[in-house]
Amino acid sequence: MWPLDPPKFSARDSYDACVRGTRDPHRRSLLLAAGDSIEAAGGRFRQAAQRGALHELKTTEFVVPGIAANDATRWVYENGMVNTVEGRAVYDRIMAAPTDERCPLCGHGVVRTLDHFLPKKMFPALCVDPLNLVPACADCNHAKGERLPSCAETTPLHPYLDRIEHDPWLAARIVDCSPLYLDFFVNPPCEWEQVLVDRTAHHFNMFKLAELFATQANRTINNIRQQLTTMLATGGPAVVSAYLSAEAATRRAHRLNSWEGVTYQTLACDETFCTGAFIP
Ligand SMILES: [Zn+2]
Repeated sequence: MWPLDPPKFSARDSYDACVRGTRDPHRRSLLLAAGDSIEAAGGRFRQAAQRGALHELKTTEFVVPGIAANDATRWVYENGMVNTVEGRAVYDRIMAAPTDERCPLCGHGVVRTLDHFLPKKMFPALCVDPLNLVPACADCNHAKGERLPSCAETTPLHPYLDRIEHDPWLAARIVDCSPLYLDFFVNPPCEWEQVLVDRTAHHFNMFKLAELFATQANRTINNIRQQLTTMLATGGPAVVSAYLSAEAATRRAHRLNSWEGVTYQTLACDETFCTGAFIP
């Protein structure tokens, strides 16, 4: 999980932007009347997020008064946010937050959509709350689906709220060298609270990051196998290891827990690999 700065507008600002352009008078009147309730729901959402208690929120407290859940999400999110100029401006600003369009949930895919951290069908009052909208790649959006956290330990990491990027928490070990298979796993510092360890592991499993990173790592080595073979022949294992270490350092300086940096670091430290196990 890779962090993002939270959107700089409130739940109420986003809601108002999404419903102001509603043309049907009856629908518009219902939506405008619900504004205070939406603001209050946003407040409860933020309080629970601060306490690490999003799993305790009751869906019954996040309805839009006087509007059925399906109608609320259709009118406010699908029509109001996705398909009106003012709502779309909010949508586009949230989508544009990740550097290099990189999905913050997996740290690899390209952002394609907004994921509702708490599902919009169950929490219609949060359907356009910026804190509940996370830019995501299609795979992560699909993997998460409509799941609700049942306890603190099964609450996925939230890119706006959980800042774990300064600690090394991602590691890998070599299972096979040709083809390369790296087993990626969560290995946080011992001072982390257990609930954060459990949440990170849950997040890692939910989005199938071990499989994703292993595939990418294998592709990376396929791309440089010839280069490594030449280095080994001309300079020996120390040159191979030094090259891999340098590649790891530059990537980890940019993003400490990137799969690329961890891949290079793991290979650089493996004597068997550096002495030629990568040669088929
Ligand atoms: Zn993703």
